[in-house]
Parts: sequence; C-alpha cells; structure tokens
Amino acid sequence: MTELLNLGSGVELAGDVFGGLMDGILEQAAAEPWLGALVGLLLVHAVVRRIPGLLHGRSRRDPQRCFLRADKRLILRRAGHRCEHHSWLGGRCGATEDLQADHVHPHSRGGSTSVANGQALCPRHNTRKAARVLWDWELRRLERRRAAYFPAGAPTAVVRHADRPAPIGPPYLG
Ligand SMILES: [Zn+2]
Repeated sequence: MTELLNLGSGVELAGDVFGGLMDGILEQAAAEPWLGALVGLLLVHAVVRRIPGLLHGRSRRDPQRCFLRADKRLILRRAGHRCEHHSWLGGRCGATEDLQADHVHPHSRGGSTSVANGQALCPRHNTRKAARVLWDWELRRLERRRAAYFPAGAPTAVVRHADRPAPIGPPYLG
C-alpha cells in the first residue's frame, strides 16, 4: 500500500515537474519572441509531419511483413544496387553495402509488401526514415529521379496500397 502511495506521489511529482517545465518554456517563449517563434515552428512541423499519415494511412496491414527474396532482389537490382535516399544538399546517397528493401509507404501504416511499394535503402537511411508516411509530391519526386537510374521499362511509380503484389516477370528481370 505504501508502495502504491509512493508511486502515486511519484507520478504527481513527475506531473508537477513536467508542468513546471512547460510553464517555464511558455514563460520564456513569451519573454523571448524568437524562442516563441521556434517553439511555434517546431509545433507546426510536428503537426505537418503527421498529415500524410492521416491522409494516406490505413489501419489494415498487409499480412505479409517481409519482402519475398525475389522481390528484394528485384528492388535492389532496379535501383542499381545503390541506396535511393536523396537529400537536397548531398544528392543521392552513395551507399551500396548492406542494402535493405524498405516499404516506401510504411507497412505499419498499411503499405503493401510489394515491389511497387519497395525501395532500396542503406541501413542508416532506413533507420532514419522509420515509419514516416511521405507526401504524394515526395513520391512523384522519387518517381522522377528513378526515371534516370531504373532500367528501361521498369515502372517507377510507387503504389502505397496494392491489393496484391505486382506480377513478377517483366522483361527487365533477366
Ligand atoms: Zn543511404
């Protein structure tokens, strides 16, 4: 019982500390306009990042979590065995080792485990991307970049929720 009471007061204390911290931040933010702007921007950023998930996320998951070995091979091969991550400043990532087949639209948000929803990522960029749902314009940008390095005839489009895996056996497979 005393343990329970202790736990209760611990939670209360944590609440007080957190509340105090928030009060402190808000007070500071009111006193320093730039800090207020920064806090505002961070809040907006956090909200905006979640919008694609709300727009495109699905609770129903593909029962198949991992890519088939043949699908993974195809995903890496069409990417030229190079990470497909692209940054504004650095351009395309140069990593070619330990590439992973990643769900462009996260599996946890209803993305299908299919070649059409796959991309090659290095472990670092796969970890960094985590379960972020991309905007449609980001997918279109990826598709435009892919046109430059995918083999001729390989479809560049990302399909978030394919009902069944894309058929295997297009001409660029061999
Ligand atoms: Zn990378």
